[in-house]
Amino acid sequence: MTISPLNIKSLVHEELQARIVELGLKKYRANQILTWIYTHHARSFDEMTNIAKKERELLSSFFFISSPKIVGTEVSSDGTRKFLFELEDRHTIESVLIPDEERQTLCISSQVGCQQACRFCLTGRGGFARNLKAYEIWDQVKEVSNILQQEGLRGITNIVLMGMGEPLANFEEVVKALQVITREPGLGFSPRRVTISTDGLVPEIERLGKSGLKVNLAVSLNATTDEVRDRIMPVNKRYPIKELLSACKRFPLEPRRRITFEYVLLRGVNDREEDAFRLANLLRGIKSKVNLIPFNPFPGSVFQRPDDAAVRRFQKILLDNHYTAPVRESRGQDISAACGQLREKARAL
Ligand code: SAH
Repeated sequence: MTISPLNIKSLVHEELQARIVELGLKKYRANQILTWIYTHHARSFDEMTNIAKKERELLSSFFFISSPKIVGTEVSSDGTRKFLFELEDRHTIESVLIPDEERQTLCISSQVGCQQACRFCLTGRGGFARNLKAYEIWDQVKEVSNILQQEGLRGITNIVLMGMGEPLANFEEVVKALQVITREPGLGFSPRRVTISTDGLVPEIERLGKSGLKVNLAVSLNATTDEVRDRIMPVNKRYPIKELLSACKRFPLEPRRRITFEYVLLRGVNDREEDAFRLANLLRGIKSKVNLIPFNPFPGSVFQRPDDAAVRRFQKILLDNHYTAPVRESRGQDISAACGQLREKARAL
């Protein structure tokens, strides 16, 4: 009987330790193997020169190391760069690299498609295919880091789970991926440079708080009344605003850290002055900041972007109430890398 080799990337540190002890290898080998994979981007056991040849051969008969396949890249006029990954089952996902003065942020996907069906999001319209495996999530970071390193460019400084999918709907795999991203042996990112963005799955926000991962939390609030939020985000029927915000209040924060509330501004829907005042009141008592994102339209969308004056009016009310409230323009619009657009272009390719 032949056993087909297992993808070694599907095992976390403790799991790999247990497997290789079964194979008669020393436990500390797990650390060495993972360091080769995470830090040196090893694609085969042959490269692992601090491991005896015999052991490398044994490892190769039980495991293989999957290689992510980048099948397309595009660069936007604003410097945003999009990477299209093809997975083993031919599904495609995207990551977007967003440079600014001080940061080089990578926006990664957690699912193929999305089930949340937010009305203003193009990914939501495209339906859902499957959850990503943990290694398919962290490999986006590792692979883009590798490319930047080869090009001699500045490395990734920040990671946001704001690409395709609802990360908290794929909780176990996302947590495993975050462990690889933030712990040793791993990709070496400080959790304060990692942000997970959710549309508001209350039980999972609580689980994340208890996980001890200490990553930043961003919540896509997008409305100030249940009546409006019900209409644009179906998740609100399960977890209405009051419940969501009380989970946010309970979320454990490290000193000097805040929850980010994302607020997509939709003309005539949630962009009035009364919404801004209500938002300021709702967030009172929560250590928070607000990211204002003028709606990024797409063909067939029923919503419109407010004009700049309305955006400024909304922002001013928050600033007057002592909130940090930057206006975030969707980056990479000319390459469909902007918020909510990721899947469409992938399909067209
Ligand atoms: N499911 C997660 C992460 C993916 S969406 C979440 O809901 O947070 C990432 C962000 O993009 C969210 O804040 C969402 O509100 C925003 N977004 C989606 N479509 C958009 C669009 N067309 N224009 C502007 N922002 C959009």
